[in-house]
Amino acid sequence: MTRRTILPIAVLVLLGGLAWFQYSRRFQEYRSDQFLMDTLISITVYGKNQELLRTAVAAAYAEMRRIAELADGFPQPGTAAWRSSDICRINDQAGKAPVPVDDDTVAMLLQAQKYSRLSHGAFDVTVGPLMELWGFGGNNPHLPSPEQIRAALTLVNSEDMIVNKQDHTVFLRKAGMKLDLGAVAKGYATEKAASVLAQYGIDKALIDAGGNIRVIGRNSRNSPWKIGIKDPRTSDAIVAILPLVDTSAVTSADYYRAFEEQGKRYHHILDPRTGYSATHTISATVITKDAGLADILSTVFFVLPAEKSLELAATLPGVELFLVTADSRIRHSPTLSGTIEITRSDAYRYDEGR
Ligand code: AMP
Ligand code: MG
Repeated sequence: MTRRTILPIAVLVLLGGLAWFQYSRRFQEYRSDQFLMDTLISITVYGKNQELLRTAVAAAYAEMRRIAELADGFPQPGTAAWRSSDICRINDQAGKAPVPVDDDTVAMLLQAQKYSRLSHGAFDVTVGPLMELWGFGGNNPHLPSPEQIRAALTLVNSEDMIVNKQDHTVFLRKAGMKLDLGAVAKGYATEKAASVLAQYGIDKALIDAGGNIRVIGRNSRNSPWKIGIKDPRTSDAIVAILPLVDTSAVTSADYYRAFEEQGKRYHHILDPRTGYSATHTISATVITKDAGLADILSTVFFVLPAEKSLELAATLPGVELFLVTADSRIRHSPTLSGTIEITRSDAYRYDEGR
């Protein structure tokens, strides 16, 4: 290379560096963490005005807390938290009377019911009696008897949940029925928080709600946000890296609340048709714009067999799916080829395009 060519290249690099420096200098970062819905939530936003960033994030958290309170299934009866939970009041009146609820509760339950039907019952928010029986909400989960499971199963069916959109009421037909929004509320609240940030004009943000990720725009370097999907069997390892712009990525996996009994592993995502932990998949990640939908679908695709999940995902516009199956295979929607980076093809079988 001659001196003549080196100089223009050096100038270009320098100018490029200067432009990048100017670009990133335009943004200040503000981050705030809060414990909500049993998880550590973290919101990071970028913008020019620190005061606006703070105000927007506070408003986003207020909205998340409102949804969390509506959907909370665990407060003690008689407390203020119990009275402000639509889910507690609906469960309390099961088999008795319809209960007036918030518009957001109606929206969550109608969306949940839609995907129960689409998944032929693999997903079902009336799974409450089963969850309670297994004890996954508490500290001492255990294997129930087959008779207990059979009895609980008679109370699990979304078709016995009557959501009246006009009257804003919800009624559970059978006494003993119980809603559990564990697979719905976090994603729904995350999406609501993203809308609030957008209303404040925030165009760069990352919300991490315990693995439910929602990003707005691009990162402060104007690149796609990069998200790692956890290896479900090796802690601290990443199985794949996803670039995200203006979308969400939500993972359902079997490593959150699991225990072993009689040599078998049981975890908190149940197949409502059998009453036992779902067994086909160990990690299901859904990438789609709406974090609420991604949360529901991650659970749907966790429960369904991989082949069915990939087929169903292909029929849903804007929905992409990444699976690690129980037989140690990585499978994903064909549209992810080219953007997803598989980092653990040594640990799992991965045939691209299959
Ligand atoms: P996720 O981590 O989003 O997959 O949600 C798991 C949570 O959803 C569990 O802790 C239960 O509260 C609830 N759940 C478990 N199994 C199901 C199911 N088949 N359909 C709907 N919700 C479920
Ligand atoms: Mg979910």
